[in-house]
Amino acid sequence: MLIVKKFGGTSVGSPERIMNVAIRCVEDFKKGHDVVVVLSAMGKTTDELIALAHKVNPKPQKRELDMLMTTGEQVSVAMMAMAMDSLGVRAISLNAFQVAMHTTSQYGSARLKRIDSERIHHELEDRKIVIVTGFQGINKYDDLTTLGRGGSDTTAVALAAALHADACEIYTDVDGVYTADPRIVKSAKKMPVITYDEMLELATLGAGVLHNRSVEMAKKYGVTLVVRSSLNYSEGTVVKEDTGVEKLLVSGVAVDKDADRVSVIGLKDQPGIAFRLFDTLAKANINVDMILQSIGRDGTKDISFTCDDGVMDDAIKAIEGAKGRLQYKGIDTRADVAKVSIVGAGMMTNPGVAAKMFEALYNEDINISMISTSEIRVTVLIDEKDAERAATAVHDAFKLSD
Ligand code: ASP
Ligand code: MG
Repeated sequence: MLIVKKFGGTSVGSPERIMNVAIRCVEDFKKGHDVVVVLSAMGKTTDELIALAHKVNPKPQKRELDMLMTTGEQVSVAMMAMAMDSLGVRAISLNAFQVAMHTTSQYGSARLKRIDSERIHHELEDRKIVIVTGFQGINKYDDLTTLGRGGSDTTAVALAAALHADACEIYTDVDGVYTADPRIVKSAKKMPVITYDEMLELATLGAGVLHNRSVEMAKKYGVTLVVRSSLNYSEGTVVKEDTGVEKLLVSGVAVDKDADRVSVIGLKDQPGIAFRLFDTLAKANINVDMILQSIGRDGTKDISFTCDDGVMDDAIKAIEGAKGRLQYKGIDTRADVAKVSIVGAGMMTNPGVAAKMFEALYNEDINISMISTSEIRVTVLIDEKDAERAATAVHDAFKLSD
């Protein structure tokens, strides 16, 4: 078997943990498998490198920031090769340049385009464990790029697809994917399996276990993923196309406290207004999430949307900058709001799921200020102070802890 094993920052956060990971990989190698290891930077290294950059320049050039950040993963892979060598096993570390992991040119948010697999195959045939830097690639200028925060998962999935691996295991510091964040909902439990689509919704909602592009890519190339802990041998969660069991109405609850709400009040109730507003935001590179438009009254209407709290100020600035074109009366914002979502592949074909969620919130006397849905997700925007209570109530209503 060819196995790709990816370990996140906490899993390689110290020399002891690196040794522990080395031992785990060697176990598979000694069983006769081909082993490719993808690593993140040690612990909080990436954050520290970014902070370091800001000490000399408040706006570091993206190219140089990538050059700096990619050193983090390079430390991990070299350390891992040395740890394996100390266990008497042949291993070789490779960075993005040496593999040749080709990406698009955008620094900081590059996308993988193509992976040359010859070097890796060659090293595997030579019976070595191959250790590859996650998160990085090279672009057409032969510069190092990064794939966006959390991007090592995507490196692992892309490698698994390119190498036609038999398994792709994503190791982290939790036991798998949970029905809710166990720090928020005490009765949350680990899911044995989940579909790509559900995982994609959860990843996008900020469940934090997997980089959402890695799930997109796994779905596209049919790579079955296993998310499991590097600290114990529990089985983890399998992410795949069809779970083989009857689709659950709701499989998980997600909470996102990062959301902020912006309302533009008193817009003209005429064609083209929504276009102008969201065009303004798009040009300012602001991602909006939920959108709500009120019905027109006295010739005016309001449009509200949510965005990440990091970009709210930019959003307001962009809207104010376009006041002449948008002609609104005022802007109203709130930062202390949270999104609570339910995700489940079965809701596509079953009515009443949203109603049940709203009932659970009503029973807790929690007010909903915005609602959005997809085929397999219902999201509500509520006061941030109610987020934990809401998540627990909804989790209980769908009996996710049974
Ligand atoms: N080290 C990078 C980060 O912290 C990539 C990763 O961990 O996946 O975002
Ligand atoms: Mg991660």
